[in-house]
Amino acid sequence: MNKKAFLTKEKVEEIVKTYPTPFHIYDEKQIVENARNINKAFSWNKGFKEYFAVKATPNPFILKLLKEEGCGVDCSSLTELMMSEKCGFSGEEIMFSSNVTPAEEYVKAKELGAFINLDDISHIDFLEKHAGIPEKICCRFNPGGVFSLGTDIMDNPGDAKYGMTKEQLIEAFKILKSKGAKHFGIHSFIASNTVSNEYYPTLAGILFELAVELKNETGADIEFINLSGGVGVNYKPDQEPNDIFVIGEGVHKKFDEILVPNGLGDVKIFTEMGRFMLAPYGALVAKVLHEKKIYKDYIGLDACAVNLMRPAMYGAYHHITVLGKENEPCDHKYDVTGSLCENNDKFAIDRMLPKIDIGDYVYIHDTGAHGFAMGYNYNGKLKSAELLLKEDGSVQMIRRAETPDDYFATFDFCDILK
Ligand SMILES: *Cc1c(COP(=O)(O)O)cnc(C)c1O
Repeated sequence: MNKKAFLTKEKVEEIVKTYPTPFHIYDEKQIVENARNINKAFSWNKGFKEYFAVKATPNPFILKLLKEEGCGVDCSSLTELMMSEKCGFSGEEIMFSSNVTPAEEYVKAKELGAFINLDDISHIDFLEKHAGIPEKICCRFNPGGVFSLGTDIMDNPGDAKYGMTKEQLIEAFKILKSKGAKHFGIHSFIASNTVSNEYYPTLAGILFELAVELKNETGADIEFINLSGGVGVNYKPDQEPNDIFVIGEGVHKKFDEILVPNGLGDVKIFTEMGRFMLAPYGALVAKVLHEKKIYKDYIGLDACAVNLMRPAMYGAYHHITVLGKENEPCDHKYDVTGSLCENNDKFAIDRMLPKIDIGDYVYIHDTGAHGFAMGYNYNGKLKSAELLLKEDGSVQMIRRAETPDDYFATFDFCDILK
């Protein structure tokens, strides 16, 4: 199986007349289709809502697009809350799943009427002191240990900073009830980028059992269960992509097995996906500036880790298509690099690709989530524009590229750089 770019070389040649490389570009049609499929896959649940994890692609045009498809937002910082508010999200359309939370962020979330998701039992007093305890509140669970699906170890929640133990969760619900909370949610995020249709159903099973126990032990009214993010995408061409319909049915089965017989058939299912919502529908397009041959062959792009950090940070795989050479044999081995003075600034290492020429356009796949967003400004490199490929084939700029003035803006209190 090969990965197909949603742009051709001809289309990129047309786009660069207006918007030079590098840029991130998102495919509106596929984003909308995918959001509709998710809502369809969970339509068996009356209260289902996907709260898009803003941190994955914090762009107001994307947030508004998802809002039209019925999505809410999952925020974890003040600026994410502010952006969501400006995009028209309010009240129960906002989930605030933060950790190590400053007081002002709880105040803002409470003011917006967002669902507040407490990461720790000690935050009950903190929230009460600074913002007050709302009537609806959510608590985050960490099951500890190692999380496996079958024989595959997926992640290590026992080593993760998030959430509360089960004992703390029971205690937290009792305390919150005594402080006036009336309706409760449960949240957990225990494995990231799971390329398996089993992750959500397995997590749902754990959280549904927990909900029954919490109801029995504390008498709390459980209003929703938030499966959070973690549904992954097939970054590698040989991976089988997740099937959201199989996932939705898997959760449905657990719901009918565990919640319905325990009088919890009205519980709403929430998700907070970021990666699965956007990653495959975004790409980073860059131009080949240089080729260098020393002990290895290097292809140098006009993009760097500032534009896409995942390979440098995690050694993450991102598939690369050399536009216009889709059908040529991959018989050349390259390291594809950016320009940072950092040797880990490589989009690919020892990658077999078609013969690359200076001036070629390189399409880096699956950058729609946790791509642009992770960018930084090392070496004074500037962040790129973000573009939206509209359903009618036109291209809209949804964020301009940074300029040197943006980079110098935080020195505007003095005259040196004026
Ligand atoms: C990052 C994050 C998400 C989204 O995760 P994905 O892997 O992008 O689906 C959802 N909820 C919380 C609390 C997160 O921190």
